Amino acid sequence: MQNQPKSRDPEWTIIKLLKWTTSYFKSHDIDSPRSTAEILLAHVLELKRIDLYLRYDQPLCINELSKFKVSIKRRIEREPVAYIVGVKEFWSMDFAVTKDVLIPRPETECLVEAALSLLPEDNGYIGKPSPKSILELGTGSGAVILAIAFMRPKYIYFASDRSVKAIKLARQNSKRHGLDTAVSFFCADWFTPLNSEKKRFDMIISNPPYVQTRVIGRLQPEIYKYEPISALDGDRDGLFCLRHIINTAHGYLNRKGSLLLEIGHDQKNDVRNIIDQCGNYEHVLFKKDYSGYDRVVRMKKKR
Ligand code: GLN
Repeated sequence: MQNQPKSRDPEWTIIKLLKWTTSYFKSHDIDSPRSTAEILLAHVLELKRIDLYLRYDQPLCINELSKFKVSIKRRIEREPVAYIVGVKEFWSMDFAVTKDVLIPRPETECLVEAALSLLPEDNGYIGKPSPKSILELGTGSGAVILAIAFMRPKYIYFASDRSVKAIKLARQNSKRHGLDTAVSFFCADWFTPLNSEKKRFDMIISNPPYVQTRVIGRLQPEIYKYEPISALDGDRDGLFCLRHIINTAHGYLNRKGSLLLEIGHDQKNDVRNIIDQCGNYEHVLFKKDYSGYDRVVRMKKKR
């Protein structure tokens, strides 16, 4: 039996399946139906998307067909593609994702850009022994800190998350990119295990939960049915975590250290008020994402 060729269903070639699935997705209002069909089929066949077209008349074997059907069903039930295939591209790097972590968003690349703009490649310490240290809070899949560590290897990186499963996944992602010695991951609820007398950082960065509780159920089903609510829920006004981080981070920053945060598209004024009331920061700057929303805020600890 072992050496017998797998039985293939001549009815269902790659190209036929792509056509059928695309129109099925269309009729169910699934975003980008053709590319979704391609990504799912390529995943099932363990091929690159482009290779689908080099083998367009290849029929699928029964096993592959049933796997593909399962993935179509999952997508129709609104499970995000990234969870079905288990990876998401961010900063041109592939990150493993599971339902334990938020899927990295394109707008979060602005947070990476903002951090990189403050981190000279040579670490700003040529010839000096103490590299600058950077902490990410609520790292999830690790995408943000790993993208930064990949771009700027000469710094010391730390990243925490409350979820043990997230930390495991982030460590897995660090290995995937050969960055396992670059970032120290640890389990923590914001600043709880840190002691400001002992540990300070040159930069603290976070994309905390910032969605108002009552708004979550009105987001796309892909988000509220599948993504971890704890990574989205910023409490009644959406600002609970941002407020806590802003009011606490200055105690953990070195002189002139920077705090960088991703914020909701309509939170600029509220966040500015929180920063002003706190009174421990200067040089506050908001940066827009590619859709034109104020998405990132950076501030320096007051001297
Ligand atoms: N940008 C995410 C969304 O709109 C929210 C991420 C967050 O709360 N940090 O779903």
